[in-house]
Amino acid sequence: VYDSLVIRARESPGGDRILSVMTAEAGIVDLFVFGGPKSRLRSLASPFASGRAFVYLDPVKDFRKLSDFEARESFPALREDLGRLWSASLVAEILVRTSGGGGDYPAVLGLARDCLAGLDASPPERTAYPIVLFLWRFVALIGLGPEPGTCVSCGRGLGWSGESPGGPGAARSMTRERFSPAYSFVSEGFLCPRCAALDRSAGREGAAFGESEEPSRREDPPISLSLGALRWIETAGTRSFAEALKIALDPSSLEDLKALAFGLARRAADSPLASFSQGAIPV
Ligand SMILES: [Zn+2]
Repeated sequence: VYDSLVIRARESPGGDRILSVMTAEAGIVDLFVFGGPKSRLRSLASPFASGRAFVYLDPVKDFRKLSDFEARESFPALREDLGRLWSASLVAEILVRTSGGGGDYPAVLGLARDCLAGLDASPPERTAYPIVLFLWRFVALIGLGPEPGTCVSCGRGLGWSGESPGGPGAARSMTRERFSPAYSFVSEGFLCPRCAALDRSAGREGAAFGESEEPSRREDPPISLSLGALRWIETAGTRSFAEALKIALDPSSLEDLKALAFGLARRAADSPLASFSQGAIPV
């Protein structure tokens, strides 16, 4: 018996259904479901249903067959909005790609359920919040989360309103990005305003002299973080998932955090994700 969340369904060449489920006990497990398209079990154990899976293990043929499913939650509103469904599919894809997060399965399962419940309850204009929070916590759970609050380059704090690198006179003409901290995918951590400015000007000089940059640098440039984004990072980690979802962000801070969370997700998966491959991202 597995405590489980169905994350994927596909058909075998023989017409049977194969489910991938995230379990608290064993991470990702593939299960055969026998019976026609209209069977009770098929409709109970469909993607994003959560509950207890009763499984028969055939020790000779070494396959697992789902014999019953006791659904506790099915998150029906996920299918009513493209942003919700896309986000739920990204959760599923990340879990499959990382083999269920690689170790702390009960925590990963709980986090995935929290995210789906948050998506299920979110109005369409707020579907980005649960997926950003999920990805942020997921990368921390699997040990790939950036150290918050500290500059990875000089070790200082990230004080947003710190002294601008060009001196007080220059600050007036500087745009927001010039004196805000940033996340660097190259350094895999946060940069304080001063180091972020040095990093940006080094990037520009490199480009001006025609030096070839690493491909990763071109794909994911440093992300400037607004005060709102920085505060979200500080507080989101100290609250329950449902409480952290209530922190409202201004549109530009939300865009910063989406870019950060999606960039971290790509790195956690260690290869391109299908969720990001087609057209516009609907959240
Ligand atoms: Zn620094």
